[in-house]
Amino acid sequence: MNSSNSVFLTHQTAAGLDALMRAWGEPAFRARQIYRQLFVSLAASAQAMTDLPAKLRERLAAETKFFELETAKVQVGDNGLTRKALFKLPDGSPVESVLMVYEDRATVCVSTQSGCPMGCVFCATGKLGFLRDLTAGQIVEQVLWACHELKEIRDERPPHETAKLPEHIGNIVFMGMGEPFNNFDNWWESIERLHDPNGLNFGARSFTVSTVGLVPGILRLARMKLPVNLAISLHAPEDNLRNDLMPVNRRYPVADLIAAARNYTEATHRRVSFEYVLLKEKNDLPAQALALAKLLRGDSQRERPLLCHVNLIPWNPVPGTPLGRSDRRRVLAFQQVLLDHKISCTVRVERGIKIGAACGQLAGGGEIPKIEEDEDFS
Ligand code: SAH
Ligand code: SF4
Repeated sequence: MNSSNSVFLTHQTAAGLDALMRAWGEPAFRARQIYRQLFVSLAASAQAMTDLPAKLRERLAAETKFFELETAKVQVGDNGLTRKALFKLPDGSPVESVLMVYEDRATVCVSTQSGCPMGCVFCATGKLGFLRDLTAGQIVEQVLWACHELKEIRDERPPHETAKLPEHIGNIVFMGMGEPFNNFDNWWESIERLHDPNGLNFGARSFTVSTVGLVPGILRLARMKLPVNLAISLHAPEDNLRNDLMPVNRRYPVADLIAAARNYTEATHRRVSFEYVLLKEKNDLPAQALALAKLLRGDSQRERPLLCHVNLIPWNPVPGTPLGRSDRRRVLAFQQVLLDHKISCTVRVERGIKIGAACGQLAGGGEIPKIEEDEDFS
């Protein structure tokens, strides 16, 4: 429930629906039916819940709402297979989500906050500043939007094309607006709801959370039972440059961050990913690639190489930022240095650049410039 006392059905847990049905004098199994309709059958209205008596459907329609987020705009790119939604919270704050459908998988990128307090200089969301923490229900709603949207994409195509598309969302990445570990409790609650085997039933490994590098969050995640994937935004191999790019580095410098990443891999036996946004002539020099390789391999006398993978992301332009995108030649040269030092490393193929839906371009409806075609990795 929110401050206006509306009941949003998609924000309910099984226990919440149970309490609601009890209050309405309905038998307990109605709660289970509604929960199933919402999160297994993906019903989008009370009328679609055809296994409920007409009276209960009417009461649900009259006294509850399905969604809290209002869809302000949906932009479509990549032949209809990338969709970016701009939602508004009741107070008008923006929330953005991106669905990316590939032949073998579908991924949804969701927001955990409206805006972001972390102030990274290369990021459009950082420029908005912090507006609000999202509730677990508001995070779950974004995933449900993507499930409905995927169904629509499949339904509107001829059968021979639909047959080539995935039936379900396979990956949920917390890489939209906001810093997940700055809203840890709500974010984790959303994971638990999305994971519920009686509901949406997403496996732990379908989740990937990306953090700017909040060390306490990394240590906390390392102790969680559910093995979700962790990505850490590194973007520089040393403190001076990282301080310039990411104010958070003054609080949690590179050495502390790497120590936390080691703690995570040792506690979980899982590999950690590092994201590295490539900014032309700022952090993409071969010497910086070498410094990065050394940082991740560790001091071979005392330590083992960190169990990790590096994702190189050519920077996506953000207006009013005096930064440049590394061209293909520089990206590949940087990658080669890492590979030469036996660091597993790929270049992230970006979706949605043309609709401002790529990493770091979520500006809450603000303008995003076009990228020259020859620099486009998509
Ligand atoms: N706040 C979290 C998750 C959201 S940002 C974090 O910072 O990790 C998701 C990823 O996009 C991060 O790795 C972030 O550094 C990267 N990113 C931000 N702005 C970008 C831009 N303009 N181009 C490419 N990647 C960007
Ligand atoms: Fe926030 Fe992540 Fe953007 Fe930094 S990169 S401002 S942490 S959303």
